[in-house]
Amino acid sequence: MTGSLRSRAVRWYALWLAVVFGVTGALVLMGFRHYLERTLAASQRTRALRIAGVTLRAFEAGDTDLRERMTVSFAPEATGRFIAVSDPAGRILYRSGPSQDQAFDPALILDPTSQLGPRKVLGAGAGELLVTTVESGSGSQRIRVATGDSMAPLRVEERRFLATLLIVFAVVGLVAIGGGYLLVDRALRPVGELTRSAEGITSRNLSERLPEPATVDEFAELSRALNRMIARLEEAFQHNRRFLDDASHELRTPLTVLRGELEALNRESLPGRFRDTVASLLDEVERLARLVENLFALSRLDAGRPTTEWRRLDLTQLAAVTAEQMRLLAEDRGLRLESDSPLQAIVRQGVWVEGDPSRLKQVIVNLLDNAFNYTPRGGKVCIAVRATPDEALLEVSDTGIGIPAEALSRVFDRFFRVDPSRNRSDGGSGIGLSIVKAICSAHRGRIEVLSIEGKGSNFLLHLPRIPESELQNPKGDGTSAS
Ligand code: ADP
Repeated sequence: MTGSLRSRAVRWYALWLAVVFGVTGALVLMGFRHYLERTLAASQRTRALRIAGVTLRAFEAGDTDLRERMTVSFAPEATGRFIAVSDPAGRILYRSGPSQDQAFDPALILDPTSQLGPRKVLGAGAGELLVTTVESGSGSQRIRVATGDSMAPLRVEERRFLATLLIVFAVVGLVAIGGGYLLVDRALRPVGELTRSAEGITSRNLSERLPEPATVDEFAELSRALNRMIARLEEAFQHNRRFLDDASHELRTPLTVLRGELEALNRESLPGRFRDTVASLLDEVERLARLVENLFALSRLDAGRPTTEWRRLDLTQLAAVTAEQMRLLAEDRGLRLESDSPLQAIVRQGVWVEGDPSRLKQVIVNLLDNAFNYTPRGGKVCIAVRATPDEALLEVSDTGIGIPAEALSRVFDRFFRVDPSRNRSDGGSGIGLSIVKAICSAHRGRIEVLSIEGKGSNFLLHLPRIPESELQNPKGDGTSAS
């Protein structure tokens, strides 16, 4: 069975109810049938004794033709009943005629008095008959009297009873299933609340806990167990972050010293092969320093630490200024960078968002940096800011090598690189886009990527936009975000 626990429980309950009703119904119906037959047999026995009395009195009066007496006293043909009188040897002294309603044919009832007590006679005409036989009289006047009735009226009663039973079971069943659904729904409500609360807990808010019901039941126990698990997770996360934080912090100082020393050495007039080695060492140290900075930034973002600055800013202008600062690098790589000039951006009304300018700037730098790294000379990189009524959109596109379709979903993963052997010397470590994603989430935004291998890539950042109505008095803040 599939579906929610709620509907599964109700379905099982309904099935169980159907089985219980089925068994109960069958037992009650059998009991009712037995009762009807017993009652009919009892009345037949009384009638048979009365018939025997009439017969014995007729014999005493010397009257051996019983037909008239029977018709006067019992009218078996008119009432649809069967009567037979015999001697103990089974010789028939009287047998009633066919009933007027043609329910059965008495001629077909063989040896009607052969068995004392009630019995069912089958195949007698159109229907089944219940025949009860008694013995009466003494000596030579000993007789057996059988009287029977068609069982058709009993069957009609049974069908009526069955119909009533079905209606009662249907009503009771529907009420019980409805009540069962409400009960299960009520009992499972805490599960829904627990699920919603648990969904809201991510690596960013591990200090939050699930609500613990005041009751002493399984849900309260589950809630407490989950909270204990979240506490253990929080501890493990904190341990990891502290390690990353400490490690990157500790690495910064020796790297700075190393860079300083290498730069000083680079300025010396060294023999050719030493100069090359020092230059290459300097490159590696730069790369390492960038990686450490990125790890440090990621660890702070993971920890959800308060940003240094949080204010309204114009994304158009931030993009224009950052692009302008990176234009030289693009030219160095033989690339054309298209963007709004800072002046155009100021003249335009702007697209305002709320956030940390230095972090949003890091997003733009990382995206442009990637576009420069993965676009061959002669290519084009564009940066543009647009707005929808609710969102500010920042788009960075390039005509570079693109990303294979199967790698698209993983480019935001930490340390993921499409081709790890490619571009290693340029400092790529597979961490830039995970920083971009973490900053986006911290700004309640999201980022998506479209790319065609060999044609280029397009990164689109969505951020919540400050509505025009709230911008009546921007107070000049956010004009410079560089
Ligand atoms: P990296 O430091 O290696 O650039 P990122 O996290 O910034 O790390 O990017 C992850 C991977 O995504 C890169 O290694 C690269 O393979 C791919 N990628 C990112 N941006 C682009 C782009 N504009 N064009 C092609 N590939 C890209």
